[in-house]
Amino acid sequence: QNPKLVAGNWKMNGTRSFLDMVAELRVGAAGGIADTDLLVCPPATLLAAVATALEGSSIGAGGQDCHAKESGAFTGDVSAEMIADCGATHVIVGHSERRQYHGEDDAAVAAKMQAAHRAGLVAIACVGETQDQREAGKALDVVRKQVAALLDDSVTGANTCIAYEPVWAIGTGLTPTVADVAEMHTAIRETIAATIGADEAAQVRLLYGGSVKPANARELMAATDVDGALVGGASLVAADFLAIARAC
Ligand code: 13P
Repeated sequence: QNPKLVAGNWKMNGTRSFLDMVAELRVGAAGGIADTDLLVCPPATLLAAVATALEGSSIGAGGQDCHAKESGAFTGDVSAEMIADCGATHVIVGHSERRQYHGEDDAAVAAKMQAAHRAGLVAIACVGETQDQREAGKALDVVRKQVAALLDDSVTGANTCIAYEPVWAIGTGLTPTVADVAEMHTAIRETIAATIGADEAAQVRLLYGGSVKPANARELMAATDVDGALVGGASLVAADFLAIARAC
């Protein structure tokens, strides 16, 4: 079994002063944290500096989004190749905030995932239902469909993670029950297995995201088919992020 992955998504937070926090993380994680990989995903403006600051450490750096194309007339966008060139190893694609505020649909997210693979990056593809969808009893169907839309036979355990982030749990302090998380992750793994086979699907790390905190990390990370966490707010405080990683 792969070690767990704890990834911090800083979202649109962080200026160069945050490099002090990265230095704290580096010291805190020195020597590694047993059976857990750590990743920091700062805004694009800081990615090269963060990757450089983490060089030779046990912590990786990742981007938060990428364009599907390698280069071109796409003002303001960043390609997967540029993210790799910064020294990053991962990129988040299809975060619900991108889907909501930038109109990204499943096809756009799939294209970004392929771009990540083209650039040699691990894609962390996000899926998750809204509150209305959960209340209507449609959460499993919605997420299965989102996952299926991302898959093709180029997906491997080494190049892809799926992050289950219920939209209603992001930044709200609300979390699903451990049983609900386990049920969803098992459904995601089965959906992946239908495309790439059970052995390869077993290697794909499935992250849970949405109000992960030091206080709830242990029980969430112990749930069936949970291979790590995608952490927003709590990743902005070094002590909290490290506490979550140790709770795995
Ligand atoms: P919070 O941990 O702040 O709820 O955010 C989760 C998230 O969206 C990570 O990508």
